[in-house]
Amino acid sequence: MLDAVHQIWQECLTIIRDNVDKRSYKTWFEPIKPLRLEETPNERTLTIQVPSRFYYEWLEEHYATLLRKTVGKVMGVNARLVYDILMERDRPEDKKPQIRIPAAPDARRSSPPTVVLRPIPHGIQQQANAQGGTSPAGTISSPPHPVNPPPNLSSPFVIPGIRSPKIDSQLNANYTFDRFIEGDCNRLARSAAWAIAERPSETSFNPFLVYGGVGLGKTHLIQAIGNYAKQHQKIESILYISSERFTNEFVQSIQYNRVSEFSLFYRQIDLLIVDDIQFFGKKEKTQEEFFHIFNALHQSGKQIILSADRPPKDIVGIEERLLSRFQWGLTADVQPPDLETRIAILQRKAEDDGIQIAYDIIEFIAHNITSNIRELEGALIRLLAHSTLRREEIVLSFAKEVLKDLIREVKVDLSIEEILSIVCHYFQIPEDQVRAKTRKQEVVQARQVAMYFAKQFTKHSLKTIGLHFGGRDHSTVIHGIQSVEGYMETDTKFADTIREIQHKIKIQSRS
Ligand code: ADP
Ligand code: MG
Repeated sequence: MLDAVHQIWQECLTIIRDNVDKRSYKTWFEPIKPLRLEETPNERTLTIQVPSRFYYEWLEEHYATLLRKTVGKVMGVNARLVYDILMERDRPEDKKPQIRIPAAPDARRSSPPTVVLRPIPHGIQQQANAQGGTSPAGTISSPPHPVNPPPNLSSPFVIPGIRSPKIDSQLNANYTFDRFIEGDCNRLARSAAWAIAERPSETSFNPFLVYGGVGLGKTHLIQAIGNYAKQHQKIESILYISSERFTNEFVQSIQYNRVSEFSLFYRQIDLLIVDDIQFFGKKEKTQEEFFHIFNALHQSGKQIILSADRPPKDIVGIEERLLSRFQWGLTADVQPPDLETRIAILQRKAEDDGIQIAYDIIEFIAHNITSNIRELEGALIRLLAHSTLRREEIVLSFAKEVLKDLIREVKVDLSIEEILSIVCHYFQIPEDQVRAKTRKQEVVQARQVAMYFAKQFTKHSLKTIGLHFGGRDHSTVIHGIQSVEGYMETDTKFADTIREIQHKIKIQSRS
């Protein structure tokens, strides 16, 4: 059974719900708590608690008439409405300083319910409490205060001039799923991202955290979720923000005394994407603020998407409670792309940019630029720029020259045969076995290493290299090169071996 105050407020809400759109109702009315109902023979006063001054101002600006009429209808003509402002966010561990806003002294009994406009400063209220004061709040004279000050949403993401705030998502429209090439390196992250984009908040991937080194597609992927959701789902407010910007905005909000607005702004977001959360490291105040926003959103079933440049456990200076929340949903990594994915990405980029570029050049770039996708793109752009500037066709020799400082050393004066012979000599394996079909492990390894160096040190295409290795096709060569790259990452002894062979090849090519 509801007590009288709740019952009355419920009746008011029923009317309000019919008069405002769903979103405004959720944002502005649901958080209100009915606190008290005080009845005297002449007056019935309903006190409602709002989360911040900003709330109060917003309600006053936009809904004063509705509130007035509603309360009048439910409680009768001698009703008054009093706001109680909870200044700080609703944290159980905090004290809850309250500012009580008294009824306007000129509230006439016969008039419709009065929406209180003049707050008492905090100090006066405390005094009144200290004295055990039950004096009617309206009798305390309050200092001049702007009546009904216009609400001021200071967030830079709010498009001004629109009554119900519309949030600019800050998304880059180019970062779509369509342009995101899938490979083994990003498969899990991509499919989770896709599932979220199709059903935001409804998967168990909340939050969704993508991590991995620079230039591996984190920003692209998390924005792709936002872009898709924006287009295909009925989500009103989506926001992409880097944690750095979040931090700066927060610090500013402290400077300008607008922390509660800041906080409120973020609580309206339905899909929040925060990039590079490692930047929150050691920023305690920001972390705390984010912690509360995170909780509020998560509790109300809003989707949260995060990225970091390393696994969460390695981010220094982030509080444990926040770190553990980051891992509530799904954590997925993105790895450096393998050769096949690099080729696919380059082909796609060239196609998107309308660049005609031969396959051997794509292969050349993909083979030599391995660390990240941003560099791959950079190489392509540089090629395009130089060819436009110099009005030259992009041919392999041109590409090698233009990209020479971006790529590993390339030597072209050794043949595939010579490389094969150096490698076989090193591993003490007959050359004809390497060309034959044998699958003995040491032979397979020598073959793969020779393929790897053939690609690195000669200008031949994967197809040609395959032909020199007993007529194998180009996918076998790709597989061989990827295996070598993979072992080098995981096995330091193997990596040393490769460096040693590389050294031998270089010496030989100079002689
Ligand atoms: P990160 O945020 O991990 O540093 P970005 O998302 O900024 O990396 O990616 C760097 C560049 O590489 C961007 O231009 C992006 O579009 C591109 N990119 C990254 N991953 C892929 C991919 N899988 N397919 C296509 N382009 C990609
Ligand atoms: Mg990024």
